[in-house]
Amino acid sequence: MAVYHGWHGGSHLTDPEVVDQYDLLIVGGGMVGCALACAVADAGLQVCLLEVREPQRKWPLDEVDLRVSALTRASQRILENLQAWSRMAELRISPYTDMEVWDAGGDGRIHFSAAEIGEANLGHIVENRVTQLALWERLESLSNVSLHYPAKVTDLQLGDEPAVVLQGGDRLTAKLIVAADGRDSQMRQMANIDTRGWDYDQHAIVATIRPSLHHQHTARQRFMKRGPLALLPIDDGRCSIVWSTSPSQAEELMALNDEMFCHQLTGAIEAILGEILDVGPRGVFPLRLGHADTYIGPGLALVGDAAHAIHPLAGQGVNLGFMDAMTLAEVVIDAHATGKKIGSTASLRRYERARKGPNMAMLGAMDAFKRIFSNEVVPLKLMRNIGLNVADRSGFIKRQLVRRAMGLSGELPRLAR
Ligand SMILES: Cc1cc2nc3c(=O)[nH]c(=O)nc-3n(C[C@H](O)[C@H](O)[C@H](O)COP(=O)(O)OP(=O)(O)OC[C@H]3O[C@@H](n4cnc5c(N)ncnc54)[C@H](O)[C@@H]3O)c2cc1C
Repeated sequence: MAVYHGWHGGSHLTDPEVVDQYDLLIVGGGMVGCALACAVADAGLQVCLLEVREPQRKWPLDEVDLRVSALTRASQRILENLQAWSRMAELRISPYTDMEVWDAGGDGRIHFSAAEIGEANLGHIVENRVTQLALWERLESLSNVSLHYPAKVTDLQLGDEPAVVLQGGDRLTAKLIVAADGRDSQMRQMANIDTRGWDYDQHAIVATIRPSLHHQHTARQRFMKRGPLALLPIDDGRCSIVWSTSPSQAEELMALNDEMFCHQLTGAIEAILGEILDVGPRGVFPLRLGHADTYIGPGLALVGDAAHAIHPLAGQGVNLGFMDAMTLAEVVIDAHATGKKIGSTASLRRYERARKGPNMAMLGAMDAFKRIFSNEVVPLKLMRNIGLNVADRSGFIKRQLVRRAMGLSGELPRLAR
């Protein structure tokens, strides 16, 4: 088998029409695709990863990227097992020890603390590019991984010998093809897999801000009628914000100058961290719920956002994606070890059965949360506030919620334990 060790860049392999055979061919080298590639390559399988663009390798030390994710303990364990975590820690990870959630429409409030459950922290805020780069560098060090970028897939052929055709004519075959190409997955569309879902009618504004008071390593979220506003603590005292609101308010906020934006933000977060002193560049993301009808096809599996897009209010998107990736890796590695066919319908069904239920439950819960907290019906407002306060006082409920938020409930794949 021809393997292109550490092959980087360029738009074609050797000659056009080269047919190559891999165990796994992953389209999309975001956080989820890279994690899957690492897990499967660590078990000795031949892996090919196609990505449209090279990950960012360098950035100014004091610059915090717009895209950050709250990573759960389960995701941390996965990234430790994949030997990426120490590199991430070198680049920047920001642990948070506490989490505070409150309702703008009442007095409901809940506080979670790592100390209460004997943990050092509840999770970490990490820039997406940090996670992606640490995994990418790991992949570059593995001789059984072939990285191709920039790569553009023009055709997907499913069946007994799944294959993709790249722009330029190269055709790559694999025992299993994986779509890890994000929410608007081209691979999912090429496989004619439909998604169900709807626009949330909310846009999320993201930015890095500096408050006058220190965040005390606490992640905060205030639920307002138009959507939740999250302040996620960065190690140097700044916060990354995710402000979900109506598309029209998002447009107005984006049009404000920095000073006015900071002023509005100070009010929206009830000056809980004093004045917001400055804000970096802002970005905006339309929010949409989407769930693929099926996660599998003949010789194909979907993982991460290609399979499910979720509201960011509980910071679960990539955490679910890592669970997909590790579950699929387990299924593939088991099939390989027992001499069974990688990518057989039976083993892919095992993957889908394990992941579809938990993902649907989380999608449903976040959707319900979003609806309950944007509702102005008085009895509902009253109930949600009572609910928050009751949960805050109940040690049992709180421990269950924290375990869930840390990704430690339910059945975990081997690499997350
Ligand atoms: C505002 C906001 C805040 C969020 N906060 C959190 C959080 O706190 N915690 C959390 O867990 N999640 C969070 N999420 C969700 C999280 O960002 C996503 O779940 C995660 O990025 C999905 O990772 P992925 O690798 O599946 O897809 P992506 O990150 O979308 O990566 C897909 C990759 O595929 C590549 N690609 C695309 N098309 C092709 C193609 N045709 N060929 C080859 N390559 C291709 C892209 O270049 C990209 O590298 C948030 C999302 C938003 C919008």
